[in-house]
Amino acid sequence: MAKPKVTIDQVMAAVEADDCLGFCLECGEEASPVEPDARRYPCESCGKPRVYGAQELLLMMAL
Ligand SMILES: [Zn+2]
Repeated sequence: MAKPKVTIDQVMAAVEADDCLGFCLECGEEASPVEPDARRYPCESCGKPRVYGAQELLLMMAL
């Protein structure tokens, strides 16, 4: 299984910073500004709709 490109540490730091940061699960690129609960936004780096807001990612990772 591939190692996740985005770590929970990165996500938690982004949530705490509260600066509308999101992450692309496809390439690991940061995206901003995005809403904290953004889902499946297109990534400016790889073009895939896999950008999620930090808060949304935290919820997904906490499951
Ligand atoms: Zn991407």
